[in-house]
Amino acid sequence: MSRSPRANAQPSPWRLMARRFAPYMRPQRALIGGSLLALVLSTAMRLLEPWPLAFVIDHVLSGSGQASGLLGDLAAGRDTVHLLWLCAGAVVAIAALKAVMNFSSTVGLALAGSRVLSAVRLDLFAHLQRLSLAFHGRSRTGDLTMRLINDIGMLREATVTALMPMLANIFILGGMFAIMLVLNWKLTLVALLPMPLLLWSTRRASRQIHEVSRAQRKREGSLAAKAAEFMAAIRTVQSLSLERATMRSFGGDDAQSSQQNVKSKRLSAGLERKVDLIVALATALVLLQGAYAVIGGSMSPGDLLIFISYLKSAFRPVREYAKYTGRLSKALAAGERVVDLLDEQPDIQDRPDAQPLQVLRGDVRFADVGFGYRSDDGSVRPLFEHLAFTIAAGQAVAITGPSGAGKSSITSLLLRLYDPDQGQVLIDGQNIRDCTLQSLRQQISLVPQESLLFGVSVRENIALAALGDVTEAQIVAAAQLANAHEFIQQLPQGYDTVLGERGSSLSGGQRQRMAIARAAIRNSPLLILDEPTVGLDSENEHQVTQALLRLMRGRTSILVTHDLAFAAQADRIVFIENGQIREQGSHAELLGQQGRYAELWRLQHPAT
Ligand code: ATP
Repeated sequence: MSRSPRANAQPSPWRLMARRFAPYMRPQRALIGGSLLALVLSTAMRLLEPWPLAFVIDHVLSGSGQASGLLGDLAAGRDTVHLLWLCAGAVVAIAALKAVMNFSSTVGLALAGSRVLSAVRLDLFAHLQRLSLAFHGRSRTGDLTMRLINDIGMLREATVTALMPMLANIFILGGMFAIMLVLNWKLTLVALLPMPLLLWSTRRASRQIHEVSRAQRKREGSLAAKAAEFMAAIRTVQSLSLERATMRSFGGDDAQSSQQNVKSKRLSAGLERKVDLIVALATALVLLQGAYAVIGGSMSPGDLLIFISYLKSAFRPVREYAKYTGRLSKALAAGERVVDLLDEQPDIQDRPDAQPLQVLRGDVRFADVGFGYRSDDGSVRPLFEHLAFTIAAGQAVAITGPSGAGKSSITSLLLRLYDPDQGQVLIDGQNIRDCTLQSLRQQISLVPQESLLFGVSVRENIALAALGDVTEAQIVAAAQLANAHEFIQQLPQGYDTVLGERGSSLSGGQRQRMAIARAAIRNSPLLILDEPTVGLDSENEHQVTQALLRLMRGRTSILVTHDLAFAAQADRIVFIENGQIREQGSHAELLGQQGRYAELWRLQHPAT
């Protein structure tokens, strides 16, 4: 059965956007409804505006007081001075009411728009944090920030500067043409003659502006991403004198973005001028036809004046419509980028029947795990096949092996940053895939290779890892366990010292000890240490290692390290290569096996 072209047609991007944002607008429906009502009333006032003037011309200034034309009945039997005062009062009353309604609708819609977009922004921020590492690996941070800040900002701006006036204009236009039809339907039809041309031009231009704006937003996102990447690598850029190369790359993107900006301005300006011409054509037609009617005596000069005044007011929104179309098309492009991101599904999610993980002992088992990272084209390069090992509760296992062997990937699977393609990862016999993500991650503390600190106080940096409220004594105890208390006390404001962005005001070793303090205050039964001593000098390394050994006591720990002297302190060592376990056992057992581990040990410790 063939489907009709309508069934195959893509819904318009406007409709898609409205449908996607509708749930965010629902809580604001009273405010939006009230504001739209105020807008309709303000439009009604605007439509009433020319009437007192026409009344004065036809029934007061003409001195006839004769009932003729539309306003004749109202004037019958009243004295001229009385009417004049009434008209003057009406002018002020109409203007005052219009002002109040206008103000209410503008403020009301701005407020509703702001609330709706704040809710969208908050939701998007939460959503970004739920999206998987695989997604973040493919995306550029600068571009995501751009969507979160600029694109939503642009939507908010467009609500007030384009959507609201556009709605007002549509009401005004409808009202004006309705009254004009009553006043003189023939003239109104003449005025409407060029309208199909206008609609066609607007639709065509708005589609083109939308396309250009879409490309431009994408380019701006890439610019933001580049700026963020270069700034994050400023140390390398300056040390290697890469400024010229980065300028060239950034400048090239910027030039393209500004070209697209000019193109969209040119399209908008072109549309506005086309609309001017169409409006002039309609006015000329009405003038010709109207003047003939007045000369022929079939229309009063006052009625023609009202008609022309309406026509002028009716064409103003038509002209502005062109301007707002451009702005809205740009906002639509920004909105699509936001919706694209909101529609991105997190790879790792709680199952509908997920239960909280219950850790009683804390043993970990990788059962026949198969896993590989997905590349951009969707293909999977297998890393682990039938990976199986266990860690008894409270035991420390060191995972070591050459670079790229898959050591960190094991910890990623345990944290459920990725899910295995086959097999299971179990904690106390519970498949972690059946548990809620939050409960799983609350049971695990992580000391990464590069611990990330935030630009808040030392105290807050430690406390934020805790699972509940913590006392000052607990924070100090965690810092003491981490060998961090002494250096913290020597900071200018001790625990109140606010750290530089990413903790840049601390040394590598100090940052690592802060990370250990965080892990200590979290007090979780499982611990992951991912190359925690890399890049430290021997003094710092000693301090960090001592702190880590204290932290590991009584906890099920996975220690990923290249440092075999550190690995040797674990209860068991697992040596992996190319995603497969080659050797495992205690340090002494592995030395005795005279295999890959023993070979590496001799390389690192030639004297032993
Ligand atoms: P190193 O000692 O250098 O840290 P590792 O043993 O911890 O290495 P992993 O980081 O687990 O190794 O990486 C194992 C393999 O998986 C490597 O070949 C690496 O290139 C690849 N890999 C790691 N992370 C990703 C990722 N996010 N996307 C695609 N491939 C990845």
